[in-house]
Amino acid sequence: MSRPQRITVLGATGSIGLSTLDVIARHPERYQVFALSGFTRLSELLALCVRHAPQFAVVPEQAAARGLQDDLRAAGLSTRVLVGEEGLCQVASDPEVDAVMAAIVGAAGLRPTLAAVEAGKKILLANKEALVMSGALFMQAVRKSGSVLLPIDSEHNAIFQCMPQDFARGLGAVGVRRILLTASGGPFRQTPMAELMHVTPDQACAHPNWSMGRKISVDSASMMNKGLELIEACWLFDAKPSQVEVVIHPQSVIHSLVDYIDGSVLAQLGNPDMRTPISNALAWPERIDSGVAPLDLFAIARLDFQAPDEERFPCLRLARQAAEAGNSAPAMLNAANEVAVAAFLDGRVRYPEIASIIEEVLNLEPVVAVDDLEAVFTADAKARVLAGQWLSRHGR
Ligand code: NAD
Ligand code: MG
Repeated sequence: MSRPQRITVLGATGSIGLSTLDVIARHPERYQVFALSGFTRLSELLALCVRHAPQFAVVPEQAAARGLQDDLRAAGLSTRVLVGEEGLCQVASDPEVDAVMAAIVGAAGLRPTLAAVEAGKKILLANKEALVMSGALFMQAVRKSGSVLLPIDSEHNAIFQCMPQDFARGLGAVGVRRILLTASGGPFRQTPMAELMHVTPDQACAHPNWSMGRKISVDSASMMNKGLELIEACWLFDAKPSQVEVVIHPQSVIHSLVDYIDGSVLAQLGNPDMRTPISNALAWPERIDSGVAPLDLFAIARLDFQAPDEERFPCLRLARQAAEAGNSAPAMLNAANEVAVAAFLDGRVRYPEIASIIEEVLNLEPVVAVDDLEAVFTADAKARVLAGQWLSRHGR
């Protein structure tokens, strides 16, 4: 390799961002940080800049930018601070950048991720919400620019590794019958249904196997995460929703499986540590050390599987319906979920009400075609208004 690859990490201060920087730091001869972004916890962003000396840092607004710029100068760094979505799009598409880790959470990541796609970058996609919202348009943009799209979600990275070799060269999922998407079932898999009304945000975020940001942790508890992943899998692997089966596997050791027409089922296994899929995508098609401990099958001893219960996990049913409906439905599902989860994390709604809010929004707003990005953002905005109306009607 001639020179280190230059990487932009969008959402550097988050769980995925930090794991990415951990892997990058293990391979200074291969990777160099080009830009880092943060939204809150800007003192941590400063520490990351000191550690990785990027050319750019991106923060949400001017006052924060001035503060960070002063601190960087005082630390003897020449890192330039940019602001807002424009700054994010700039560092995602800069001609010097080789790869972009899209690890902003939620709809906020869509425009910067698409900017990276349109610039033909190698995309390491953690920000599943971006793909869920804009599916067809996103994939069209990937094809048009020739961008290489590599999934970071552990399940999708597993599926990608189990796909036919030619899949990555655009030759389709030849011989694939089904995708088996595994799910841990989260912290409430066995909680008595009557208690779900009283669970707290901290309980929802106490995931049994993974340590993640708070929004995706709540999504994992409700299994909306698996619903979003079902939609994500359909786009990434050119599958119909009916070809994606969700399997609860509480140990989170098998990260997903691909079922072929000859009866072969390929799986990818590993410890639940996001540095494995991150390393896989960073180095693809090569392999690098990720710092993840080798899997100890004797310590794990057994692997269990069960079918998901849609009464316990109504969000999974709602997501499957949105996947089938296509068009504006996934963007509305995602936006209603973002509003509902934020309200749950703020203590304004109870856990089972997350699904009630989403269901109401999907029932109220007709599904329409989305031919351009504006239509995606219109659907997103409508869903946010309707979810907001639910909250005000219930005095939250
Ligand atoms: P996180 O909350 O830990 O980090 C989110 C990052 O996005 C932070 O850097 C934050 O500053 C930034 N951010 C938040 N709101 C923003 C906004 N409005 N504008 C710009 N930046 C903003 O989340 P995470 O767990 O790292 O997840 C990031 C993404 O990766 C999500 O889409 C999630 O679904 C996906 N993902 C995460 C994991 C995991 O293990 N954490 C696994 C699979 C997929
Ligand atoms: Mg996942």
